[in-house]
Amino acid sequence: MPREYTYGPFQSRRLGLSLGVDILPRSKLCTFNCVYCEIGPTGKNQLVSPNFRIKLPPSPLFRKELKSILKFVPHLNSITFGYNGEPTLNENILDFLKIALEVRDDLNWTHEKPKLTLFTNSSTLIFDEIRERVKQFELVLAKLDVATNNYFKQSNRPHPETPKIESIIDSITKLKKEMPMDHKLAIQCLFYNSYREEYISNNNPENVKNLAYAIKRIKPDLVQIYSTARIPAEYFVFAIDDERKREIIKIFKEIIQNDKIKIEYY
Ligand code: SF4
Repeated sequence: MPREYTYGPFQSRRLGLSLGVDILPRSKLCTFNCVYCEIGPTGKNQLVSPNFRIKLPPSPLFRKELKSILKFVPHLNSITFGYNGEPTLNENILDFLKIALEVRDDLNWTHEKPKLTLFTNSSTLIFDEIRERVKQFELVLAKLDVATNNYFKQSNRPHPETPKIESIIDSITKLKKEMPMDHKLAIQCLFYNSYREEYISNNNPENVKNLAYAIKRIKPDLVQIYSTARIPAEYFVFAIDDERKREIIKIFKEIIQNDKIKIEYY
C-alpha cells in the first residue's frame, strides 16, 4: 500500500521509536526559514504567515495506513505530528488526532501506549484556537531557541507577519497553564555555531542567558537541548559539541532554579 501520511518509524534522539505523521502538503509549508532547518530552506511560496491556514482533512487512507503500520510496532514510543513544516497550519489537525487516538487505543501495546506528540515552532500559539488544539496532544514539543528579536530574525527568519518573540514566549507560557495536568510541554532549544565571522549564532552567552529567563517564566515540564545532526539549510551552520551542551545546561539550571523542570541534552 503506498504511504500518504506516515514516515518511519525511526529511532529518534528525543522520542524513542517514533512514527512520523505529516499532515501538510507534499512540499514544505512553514512560518519560519531557520538557518539550521534539516529539510532544506523554506522557498518563497512555502513561507507563510502564522495567520495562514490550509484545509486538508484526512482521507480514509489515513486510518488504514496507521492501522497497517502500527500493528507491526507494538513497542512504539510516539506517534509524532510534524516533519514537513508547521503542522498547526492545517485547520484539520484535530481530525487527524482523533483518528490516531482511536487507532492507538484499539491496539495492544507491549509497554505503555505510544504518546500522541506534536512538534510546533510555536509561531501560531498566539491564537486561542490553536492553543486549544495543541493542548490536546499528550506531549507538545515547542520550539524556542532565541529570546530576543534580533536573534529571532537571524536564526529563524520568520515570515514578516510573525509576532515578536516576546509575544511567542507569552503564548507558550499561556499554553502551559492551559494544558491538562497529564499532558507534557517540552521546550526544544536547538543551538548551533556559525563559520561566518559576521554572523552571530544563537550559541552566544547573551542569548543562552535570556533564553534561560524565558524558560523560567514558561515553566515547561522538560527542556531539550540539542544541535544539528543532518545537513542544515545554510552552509555556514555547524553543530555545537556535547561539552557546550553541558555548559548550557549548567547555565540554565543556575538561572531557572526549578527542580520540577527537567533539562536534557541530545
Ligand atoms: S520551524 Fe522547523 S520546519 Fe520550519 S524552517 Fe524551522 S526547522 Fe524547518
